[in-house]
Amino acid sequence: METKVYYIDEKDDKKIKEASRIIKAGGTVVFPTETVYGLGANALDEDACKKIFLAKGRPQDNPLIVHVADFDISKYVKYIPEKAKILMENFWPGPLTIIMPKSDTIPYMVTAGLENVAIRMPLNKIARKLISYSGVPIAAPSANISGRPSPTTIEHCIEDLNGKVDMIIGGEKCEVGLESTVVDVSDGEVIILRPGAITKEMMEEVIGNVFIDPAVLDKLKDDEKPRAPGMKYRHYAPSAPLTIVCGDINRVIEYINSKTLENNMKGIKTGILATDETVNEYKGSLKISLGSRKKPGIIAANLFDCLREFDKIDVDIIYAEGFGEEGINLAIMNRLKKAAGYNIVKV
Ligand code: AMP
Ligand code: MG
Repeated sequence: METKVYYIDEKDDKKIKEASRIIKAGGTVVFPTETVYGLGANALDEDACKKIFLAKGRPQDNPLIVHVADFDISKYVKYIPEKAKILMENFWPGPLTIIMPKSDTIPYMVTAGLENVAIRMPLNKIARKLISYSGVPIAAPSANISGRPSPTTIEHCIEDLNGKVDMIIGGEKCEVGLESTVVDVSDGEVIILRPGAITKEMMEEVIGNVFIDPAVLDKLKDDEKPRAPGMKYRHYAPSAPLTIVCGDINRVIEYINSKTLENNMKGIKTGILATDETVNEYKGSLKISLGSRKKPGIIAANLFDCLREFDKIDVDIIYAEGFGEEGINLAIMNRLKKAAGYNIVKV
């Protein structure tokens, strides 16, 4: 199919309205949000949502997030749990997705057969206008081929989905660069199923105890079922295998340098994912810095782009420095661990 690609900003109402007509007619549109680019379709139209799964090659048991532009979500949920109300007031619009009991208007195609629906109100102006002009909520997962790193620029979306969707709009780089924080409040407590820019610490300030689902930190056993079906899939992965090296930073550098040397002798090309503070300490030449450790928000925003970069420079194996687990570092480490298939070396 032919994909229309428009580089636009939020003032380009004509193009955003054209995109909204595609959504209303049951088509698919890739659009920017502050987290990552989304691949959207009318969330109330089962056939339209099916196209999302087909274009991405997404497993049918991985539910979609429904994006809204209005606080009145009463049509889409059975009820709004008390804690959800507090989170909505404090963090919407923004990178926080809340899982609540669904109403009958949301098709099971969207929730992958689950009784709960994930809802988010994005901050990005193009996204908000697109939803408002469409007059329907928009179901949208990240606009990448399933398994690849999520797209943070329009070029990433074109790479993955040109010819597979009706339209791609945008142009700006996503500010946050990691997918939204996902919390489940359907059982009364707030449980983080996927960490993001709205951190545990930020939510605890307004709501008290927040829990972290075990699947966020560690690999699940083969017979364990995650609360967020998407957490079981290998994700965000560059083509070359990735190993995270954790521990005292001087030892990390020493370890990666010795591996690089060893690999060089075997003709194996070694990529290194470093930070501004350390990048010059590595002996290899195929290294990329995520940014300064003093600015973890920037590291988060660069992560997926850097992972995709390694596919372009053609490396055989990649080593990445590890990060802590406080604040947004939890989200950075979560994505890195998934990209690495939980291949972690402690030194
Ligand atoms: P993506 O849209 O690719 O950013 O992924 C959305 C994430 O939210 C996946 O990990 C899904 O499994 C999770 N998710 C979406 N809807 C639900 C739901 N109703 N219950 C549990 N997890 C959900
Ligand atoms: Mg995704």
